[in-house]
Amino acid sequence: MEFRILATDGRARAGELITDHGVVPTPTITLNYTRALEKWGFKPEDITTARDVILLRNTFWMREAGATDVREGVDWPGPVMADSGGFQMVSLGRHVRQTLRGIGLAVKGKQSFITPREVVEWGRGANVDLIMPLDNTVYTMDKNPLKFVWSAIMTAVWFKRSRGIADDKLYYIVQGGLNKLARQISLWDARRQLRGKILTANGGTPQNAVAAVAIGGLAWDEPRSAMYKMVEFCVSRLPDDKPRHLLGVCKPIDILECIERGIDSFDGIAATREGRHGRVWLWGGQYFDINNARYATDKTGLDSQCNCPVCRSGVSRADIRARFKAGDREVMRQLMAHNWHQNYRLISTARQAILEGRFQELKTSWRG
Ligand SMILES: [Zn+2]
Repeated sequence: MEFRILATDGRARAGELITDHGVVPTPTITLNYTRALEKWGFKPEDITTARDVILLRNTFWMREAGATDVREGVDWPGPVMADSGGFQMVSLGRHVRQTLRGIGLAVKGKQSFITPREVVEWGRGANVDLIMPLDNTVYTMDKNPLKFVWSAIMTAVWFKRSRGIADDKLYYIVQGGLNKLARQISLWDARRQLRGKILTANGGTPQNAVAAVAIGGLAWDEPRSAMYKMVEFCVSRLPDDKPRHLLGVCKPIDILECIERGIDSFDGIAATREGRHGRVWLWGGQYFDINNARYATDKTGLDSQCNCPVCRSGVSRADIRARFKAGDREVMRQLMAHNWHQNYRLISTARQAILEGRFQELKTSWRG
């Protein structure tokens, strides 16, 4: 993977991620192809026809299902990022055992164990373009500061074991929640790894620089302002020449705030998940719930400012609502596609604004 910065506007950057499966203009947002989408029988092309974005899949579940190629079951010619699923591990709570060796999981009587090395080895073998290693994350609002320090150390130890397999595709995940000491530890290690030339313990071969960096452990019930401050804290301590990903963040206002702070890529499931539940995103940052009775007679389209296929087709809110209430799967797909398109359009518009030096203007207009 290579990264090129084409323009900056304040700390916001417009660039290109060059992968083996195509060039992605940045800032960018991934299309998270989740287990929920798979379970509902949706394919990536049901959500978008865009191909200059990254598809995101989950290493842990794919590996569990015996997949040997990250494009298994999907027709996706573009780049794919694989997340190790550390985040899901936390939500599985007591079923998970995390040690310095890796993560053990016991669900419905089935035991499995995954090591940091296996995550990257699977990624390389399965033709993944951008690999998120195994990381240790803690619920952001946890009251015990030691947990954050431990998570930064554990992530560093796991990362050391992830090296030397696919360094040119590998992200370093900075952990530590809102705890500055933990973040400092993680950022210190991240800088060494991104710079490369680290001697191994036995004085062996110097290692290559790692390709990119991600910030994890945020967007988990903390106040938005605290998240933005921590993004700023991290970005100011990271090298400028590497791409920066923000894990699990994809609400439009967060995207704009974090692009402004120097983030190049985002992922998250909010657009599709909220669409599936009938929450419609509007250009400018407003939302409405299609379940609300006031839309039963509303003959306008979802969003007059949206040019997605659903809005262009002229279908009315009233019609969408009636079909949504009846459990129509196609309308569920349309709502997911519309929401995702809002993000795609936002990120493309933001990129253009950075290239033209008027990012602030866009951000102000969005807040209206
Ligand atoms: Zn639309």
